[in-house]
Amino acid sequence: MAQIFFNIIGNAVKFSKKGGQIDITISGEFIFTENLILTCTVKDNGVGISKDKIPQLIKPFTQASEASNGDYKGTGLGLAIANKLIELMGGVLHIESEIDQGSTFTFALISQASEEELTISKITSHAAENLAIENLADKHPLDILLVEDNDINLKFMVMLLSQMGYTPDVALNGVEAIKAVEKKKFDLVFMDNQMPRMNGMDATKVIRTMPNGKKMMIIGLSASVFKEDIKLAMNIGMNDYLTKPVRIQQIVERIKNCILLKEKEVK
Ligand code: ADP
Repeated sequence: MAQIFFNIIGNAVKFSKKGGQIDITISGEFIFTENLILTCTVKDNGVGISKDKIPQLIKPFTQASEASNGDYKGTGLGLAIANKLIELMGGVLHIESEIDQGSTFTFALISQASEEELTISKITSHAAENLAIENLADKHPLDILLVEDNDINLKFMVMLLSQMGYTPDVALNGVEAIKAVEKKKFDLVFMDNQMPRMNGMDATKVIRTMPNGKKMMIIGLSASVFKEDIKLAMNIGMNDYLTKPVRIQQIVERIKNCILLKEKEVK
């Protein structure tokens, strides 16, 4: 986390004029009893970046222009690294800037609350709501399968689900996912699409033909945002599709939907 601040605040200093001002704000919101979503903003009134260059900046080795860099010769890696770290923590980096109007970098991170913050959270009205999320699995048990080959994404999802009390089964590719469904009837599957051996789309097709696989909710996860891909995913039998970087709130919503659906069926 320090690396993200180091890169973004470092840039704000580098690309500010003499006597410039940098404002840093961080606000926290509890999502579980022990976790906070931190919304961080780093705002400078420096040289700014032209609007058309902004989308490129998170790609490695990109620099806005010689003029905006002044004498500084950087690597063009700082923002790419910060952006990747933010994504891995379930967030998105948002950049707002205009030439000569300064820049604002906004991002959300998940963080563990300190003892002091925990005490405060217990006496705020938020706490009751958070408890409801944290103890979700006690009242609403679900069998969840995570199909994901990327180690860091996997760790993030396992951490998130375990905060709600769930212990998901894990499969590292489509072939393993099919094997897992043969053995167990899951309520909910989070299925990455790009995986070695067998991808998520192909695995879903097979799973839908299996006795255990007809009813479960399958949610696809992919970096692709193309409408055709989303349509294709739904056509082959996924119930929903999330594009990466996946937001924490989206996962929580899907879990709640699955609980509601399951409880409706029981009735
Ligand atoms: P580096 O600083 O090593 O060039 P970065 O990836 O950190 O690489 O930044 C890429 C480019 O984005 C910089 O070269 C600069 O043109 C632009 N940039 C980043 N932050 C700012 C900022 N706060 N104000 C103006 N331009 C910025």
